[in-house]
Amino acid sequence: MVKSSMFYSIFFLKCPRCRQGEFLEANPYRINKMNKVKDHCEKCNLKYSLEPSFYTGSMYVSYAVGIAVAVAVFVLLLIFDEIRDPLSIFGIIVLALVLLMPYIGAVSKSIWAHFFFKYDKEIAVKIRKNVTRT
Ligand SMILES: [Zn+2]
Repeated sequence: MVKSSMFYSIFFLKCPRCRQGEFLEANPYRINKMNKVKDHCEKCNLKYSLEPSFYTGSMYVSYAVGIAVAVAVFVLLLIFDEIRDPLSIFGIIVLALVLLMPYIGAVSKSIWAHFFFKYDKEIAVKIRKNVTRT
């Protein structure tokens, strides 16, 4: 995957403007800092929050991402055709959602940030050059 693509930036939790700085304070599975968004990007200095409780709206995104994961798990179960009992299928979908919950939350915040902050190629190139020079 191209490192400056939007999908890379969303799924690997990078800064929406330069797509190089980290978006979260720690890995989503570090429970004590779960999905805590950094104050600003350490590479391009973008402030990640436009207003207080800016990321509350990412709950809507996480609903959609959760549905997408549930559908994906269901389709995988249909393709492999191992489990046909509806209750087992439901249990597996719930288990997948619970296990993926930290990452779904993180990706939702990342998608939410990508709605509001646009990629700036000039800044990205400038930062990349500075990194290679030092
Ligand atoms: Zn940045």
